[in-house]
Amino acid sequence: MKLINIQRVLEEWSPLSSAEDFDNVGLILGNPDDIIEKAIITLDTTEKIIDEAIDSDCNLIITFHPLMFKGYESLKSEEYVRKCIIKALKNNINIYAIHTNLDNNPKGVSYHISKKIGLRNIEVLIKKENKENLGMGIIGELRDEKTEKEFLKYLMSKMELSNLRHSNFTGEKIKKIAVLGGSGSFGIEEVLNKEIDCYVTADLKYHDFFKSNNKILLIDIGHYESEKYTKELILSYLNKKIPKFACTIAKTKTNPVNYF
Ligand SMILES: [Zn+2]
Repeated sequence: MKLINIQRVLEEWSPLSSAEDFDNVGLILGNPDDIIEKAIITLDTTEKIIDEAIDSDCNLIITFHPLMFKGYESLKSEEYVRKCIIKALKNNINIYAIHTNLDNNPKGVSYHISKKIGLRNIEVLIKKENKENLGMGIIGELRDEKTEKEFLKYLMSKMELSNLRHSNFTGEKIKKIAVLGGSGSFGIEEVLNKEIDCYVTADLKYHDFFKSNNKILLIDIGHYESEKYTKELILSYLNKKIPKFACTIAKTKTNPVNYF
């Protein structure tokens, strides 16, 4: 199958125009006329991922995080990016990124998290300007309210987490929840303006936790952890749209953060 046809299928779902300005989505490296034998799906593109692609005869990597963001001008900086680009080029590996255009998809990254944790009556948290149906994050409700401790245990089991960080307990029950996959501190303001009991996201800083003001439970489940199911999401979409296309989730774990 020609790469351009795979690009069309992905962009029908998450158009490049839905991505954020800073982002670098679409075909990052490669040739749209290449015939794709097989693809692997990953959250990040690392040298190990490129090795896995080579070893498993894949000539397309579909990555969530782009290898480099816009404005990347010099191959001298960022050792791992340079190595990845050279290795991919030498081995005729195409790299395609679907990132904030999938975050902004109302059935995208955060929607998928909301389904994992069983939220209902869902809506978009931060609507994209002038685009009614696009935006970051999802708000929804649990079927039954839970105490904060119950909810943390529930969340850990549903998202298969070994740990998480949270703000001080408020003593209130949890029912209405906002979720936002990836770095979500920019969403705290919006969440505080709505009647939301709890915000599940990642990459919260020390001072962000104070912003809860004992009104809301802020939870940081880890960046990789919040987005890890996005690989399944992309795979199931491609399997549905082009069932004959060979596509798998990469075996290599790319989380650069370790816990001791
Ligand atoms: Zn991310």
